[in-house]
Order: sequence, then C-alpha cells, then structure tokens
Amino acid sequence: MDVVVCTHLHVDHVGWNTRLVGGEWIPTFPRARYVIAGEEWEFWRHERDACIDDSVAPIVDAGRAVLTDTDDAIDEYLTFEPWPGHTPGHVAVRLHTGEGEAVFSGDLMHRVVQVAEPQWSSRFCHDPARARATRRDFVERHADSGTLILAAHFPRPGYIVTEKGQRRFVPAA
Ligand SMILES: [Zn+2]
Repeated sequence: MDVVVCTHLHVDHVGWNTRLVGGEWIPTFPRARYVIAGEEWEFWRHERDACIDDSVAPIVDAGRAVLTDTDDAIDEYLTFEPWPGHTPGHVAVRLHTGEGEAVFSGDLMHRVVQVAEPQWSSRFCHDPARARATRRDFVERHADSGTLILAAHFPRPGYIVTEKGQRRFVPAA
C-alpha cells in the first residue's frame, strides 16, 4: 500500500491508520503517504480526542502525513474536493477513469434517505447548517450525472437519479 486517503478525521474513518505495537502506535503501512486535508488536521489537532492521539498524531509524528489543500490532486486518478460541514475540512475524493467518474463521498451523507432529504444533518455533523447546504449542492451536482457515488455508510455504491421530480439513490447493479 503506498497511499492512504482520509476524507475526514472522525474515529470510524481513521482507525486502521495505526497499529499498537509494543505499547506504541505506529503507521499500519510504514511506507505509505497518508493524505489528509491540512484544514482538517488543523481543526482536530487542537481537540482532545482519543482517536486523534492514537490514529492520526502518530502518522504526523512519523512524518508519513501529507497535508494538502482541500482541492489538491493526489495523483493522476484521485482528486480532493472540499465539501465541508460534516467536519471543517471534510473532503470527497473523486476518481477519474477512462470508464467514467466515481466519488468517495465520506460522511457527506450517512443514510440513503439524505439524498431525498438533504436538509437532514446527522448529529455527528460539526456545522449542521453548512453540512445541509453542502449536501444539497452535492446531490444537485451529481443527480443524473452517471457518477458512481461511494458513500462510506451506505450499504452499496450507486447513483443519484431523479424520479418523479425527487432525488433518489439507486444502488449500482
Ligand atoms: Zn464522520
């Protein structure tokens, strides 16, 4: 593994960044670069959160973190895009291929119902109003676009489509 990409720094999205070996948290992939939005790290580094101490700070301390802008290209296929609100520096990761595009949307949406009801923020959203506006934009931009959506907490990848004037999430075949 040569690159690890973090959409944001919540506990359920950083857990395997590190392993506990001999009482010390070390990078799970010692030669990988861990790409993290600098804005996200700047926010969380000041929070007293156990998952930052055991799963993110050791990556930074080991010199494996690459702190980028929220719209940086990671390589020729993957690009960060800023979609803030759920956390201050939350990003989605867009995959460009010859066959089309896919987006790893992190926690922009937790439940499929939020495609139809983007105004519903989860209680884990840092800034619910901003998360709501971001989610609306995301749903509108990707509706009927053919872009495969890979949302971390959805049961399956799929597409945002319009049916009877409503946005819906349709799992990929
Ligand atoms: Zn989250």
